[in-house]
Amino acid sequence: MTTIAPGATIGILGGGQLGRMIAMAAAQLGYRTHIYAPEESGPAADVSPSWTQGAYEDAAALAAFAEGVDVVTYEFENIDPSAVEVLASHGLVRPGAGALRIAQDRLAEKRFVADLGGLTAPFAPVGSLDDLETAIETIGSRAILKTYRMGYDGKGQARINEPGDAVGAWNAIGRQPAILEGFVTFDQEYSVILVRGADGAVRFWDSAANVHVDGILATSTVPAGSLIEGQLPAARALAKQVADALDYVGVLTLEFFASADGPVFNEMAPRVHNSGHWTTEGALTSQFENHVRAICGLPLGDTGLAARQVEMRNLIGDDAAEWLAILSDPENHLHLYGKHEARPGRKMGHVTRLSL
Ligand code: AMP
Repeated sequence: MTTIAPGATIGILGGGQLGRMIAMAAAQLGYRTHIYAPEESGPAADVSPSWTQGAYEDAAALAAFAEGVDVVTYEFENIDPSAVEVLASHGLVRPGAGALRIAQDRLAEKRFVADLGGLTAPFAPVGSLDDLETAIETIGSRAILKTYRMGYDGKGQARINEPGDAVGAWNAIGRQPAILEGFVTFDQEYSVILVRGADGAVRFWDSAANVHVDGILATSTVPAGSLIEGQLPAARALAKQVADALDYVGVLTLEFFASADGPVFNEMAPRVHNSGHWTTEGALTSQFENHVRAICGLPLGDTGLAARQVEMRNLIGDDAAEWLAILSDPENHLHLYGKHEARPGRKMGHVTRLSL
């Protein structure tokens, strides 16, 4: 097993807030970080000593980047897997290209999880308006049309309530390859976040109850309550199967709906996740630190709770202007991502509160 000792350099694809928080955890453990991203700068630039601006399609620039780092990871999964394969031919990439290939494609991830015995919403691939009309006949007209790729925070999605909505939905997602998903009736949403070490050891954090507003995560609360807790053994078993099947190394997130039939898998992210931000103060080891430990082949830290109750609230758009009021309550832990412009729907920071 390769161990990458403190002092080495971790390469991170993507320079947003997740990269920023991974870089901060890496620095705590004595690593340097080097970001590779198409933008000139970003939230991770403030805390990472090196930044390469390059396209994810630029094989030569990626190869040069890979040569200068000891391990590569990513904070953003919509990267062409061929780019990750270029990196892998020059050194260690964790998690590997296989996980990325599945997690970035809604059809592939649903099939993968269904093949492992997991419950998903009924789904069908849609490549044309004709396909969509046929899929509505089999799945039903209460459904959501989602593009295969580049979908996150409710983007690339259109709701369907009746068969007549098909044309509008198909146009709304830009007539791209998509899946039609039956609408799941659920009581709550939650995520299972695990870390799998290079030796195959797996640890889970407590699962938070996640509340979304307009398709964007608003709050994550731990403990999640008895409904979600009752489903965790099954949800965790599935998440572990996924991680083992992919020989996954790092933090992996699976999102679920708590339905009357048990956990319904929604989607996975091969990375640290917004619904795990509470772990920075609320768990004994954060998702960011354990991700760094895993990809560097180090022993994993304890994922236990550090408080009786934890709530994380996202600061979206103008919410972040309230920073002074937030800080006026000494129990609030404020995280701002250093973004200059507060556009509507943009994640600007988060606040975590612990109850001891
Ligand atoms: P996603 O981008 O797939 O995470 O979807 C964003 C949000 O839309 C989810 O967190 C749910 O609140 C809702 N949603 C997505 N898919 C479904 C579904 N099949 N049935 C009901 N609600 C859904």
